[in-house]
Amino acid sequence: MCPLPTAQSADLLEWIHSLVVVCRRCQLSQSRRNAVPGEGNPNASLLLVGEAPGAAEDSQGRPFVGAAGQLLTTLLAEIGVKRTDVFITNVVKCRPPGNRDPQEDEIAACNDYLLGQIGCIRPKVIATLGRHAMHTLVSPDLSISRVHGKHFFQQGIFFIPIFHPAFALHDESRRGLLRDDMRALKRLLNETQAEPKQTQTEKE
Ligand code: SF4
Repeated sequence: MCPLPTAQSADLLEWIHSLVVVCRRCQLSQSRRNAVPGEGNPNASLLLVGEAPGAAEDSQGRPFVGAAGQLLTTLLAEIGVKRTDVFITNVVKCRPPGNRDPQEDEIAACNDYLLGQIGCIRPKVIATLGRHAMHTLVSPDLSISRVHGKHFFQQGIFFIPIFHPAFALHDESRRGLLRDDMRALKRLLNETQAEPKQTQTEKE
């Protein structure tokens, strides 16, 4: 995680975002309309990390504003979490053409921005949405179908892999699985609620 001082974390988050919107580090910059840095509460206890922007996100420059994002907002509301209270971003900040999977070199090129955001926000809980975010932040060896809804404690943060909302968009049985994941997320949030957010110094 980047060693960033608390008092300036919101400003540093904005600085990271100013770098993202003009970034040309990988080939995704050539086909994007807008980079999508992420948005939300810079002091959030919960950070949600998806895979990559889609068409709606690319058009608006905002994360999770398409159909999958609307489902995510609904499912968060069902567990009593307001979207404005969390921070939402993606592993890669620019849309892969045709919504293909992000490639390893693209994920690697964008990783500093994601780690910088985590360092600034210092969430108690990170929910990874789908396998790419889980492989990037938790472990490349995990299978999402086996570990979704379970949590892992690494570097002072609880990580909970859950299915991506796009996985459940058109399938009611899958939506039930995602609701189970959201309930597991809620339990984890409740368990961590009493604990203060760690300072960067405490994490190191
Ligand atoms: S995906 Fe990330 S590394 Fe690639 S151009 Fe966009 S912001 Fe830069």
